[in-house]
Amino acid sequence: MSAPLPPGATIGILGGGQLGRMSALAAARLGYRCHIYAPEAESPGMQVAAAHTIAPYEDAAALARFAAAVDVVTFEFENVPAATLAALEPLAPCRPGVGVLQVCQDRLAEKAFLARAGVPVAPWRAVHTEAELTAAVAEIGLPAVLKTTRMGYDGRGQAVLRSPDDLAPAFARLAPKPLILEAFVPFVAEVSAIAARGVDGALAVYDAVENRHHHHILDLSFAPARVSAATAALARRHAGQVAEALGLVGLLALELFVLPDGTLLGNEIAPRPHNSGHWTMDACLASQFEQHVRAVAGLPLADPARHHDAVMKNLVGPEGLAAWPRLVAQPGVAPHLYGKAEARPGRKLGHANRLLALGSLAEMDDATALKGL
Ligand code: AMP
Repeated sequence: MSAPLPPGATIGILGGGQLGRMSALAAARLGYRCHIYAPEAESPGMQVAAAHTIAPYEDAAALARFAAAVDVVTFEFENVPAATLAALEPLAPCRPGVGVLQVCQDRLAEKAFLARAGVPVAPWRAVHTEAELTAAVAEIGLPAVLKTTRMGYDGRGQAVLRSPDDLAPAFARLAPKPLILEAFVPFVAEVSAIAARGVDGALAVYDAVENRHHHHILDLSFAPARVSAATAALARRHAGQVAEALGLVGLLALELFVLPDGTLLGNEIAPRPHNSGHWTMDACLASQFEQHVRAVAGLPLADPARHHDAVMKNLVGPEGLAAWPRLVAQPGVAPHLYGKAEARPGRKLGHANRLLALGSLAEMDDATALKGL
């Protein structure tokens, strides 16, 4: 086990988006500097970091200079090429390591891994050819969801198959191959739980939250999830199991489907801070970003306890930006903006956390919970 990074040390972050930005802000509060590495020149993370490198993820010379300038490397975006992290690993400690990235970049590896870690998943099959798709549908049945195994996010790269006529067009449209076919899960809610794991193997797991999507993009998180105590405890336990099974040093979000009987099926692992954890910035003593920084810096993890209930609302695209003047003036709401240059449709520009008295959300209807957001 390695000693904690001393104050003033530099954390290298691959990826320049809002997750890196909020990690850098949390790192600064703990006395660390951040160096952001990203291909894009105008990135939210670079605006708040002590140093940055603008270079492709494949630029070996730039990666070597970056490794020499930082004390530890992490990432805020799991589609960083695995080869990038593999090139950095001999040069600087990488937390999480390339093995974690590889599992989470590939839905086939991820599904197999979840089952090995003791998290049940919906039936699934790997699909390389149209014939395999036909065979997989014969076994799994319809409806089913066909997804790309790589680079999918916010609902991109997937199709719901409802009739046999849907198979060929969906197979032709989705790329790159291979694909994964999953049974359609008749869930009553989607929840997620965030777990940090330190260099000493200690775990800190936040309360599970309920997530609602709009056009496949996260719209709202309700913290805590309004599910049974047993379901909530199981979601947290599963997140911890996955962190342990991965040997993670860092932080992850585990997304799960809640079935009508309260049982859970694992969907996705994000081995980094996650949009469904933004509520922790205002409703916990230590946010997910601070926890991520603590884990990668080798500090003791903080108490993940919640001191308020909260509802997080994402600000997406021009409509999200239009709500900003109202939200910034709203009592009881903590607003966050990511400094993005353009308010393109579908882009996450910020979020707002409405704080509620601890324990009050369980009894609230949606209209009351969302007042002011
Ligand atoms: P994903 O990219 O896997 O997170 O999927 C995006 C969204 O599609 C999820 O949040 C669900 O709302 C829906 N979805 C994904 N997989 C399934 C499934 N097997 N059954 C039902 N809905 C799904």
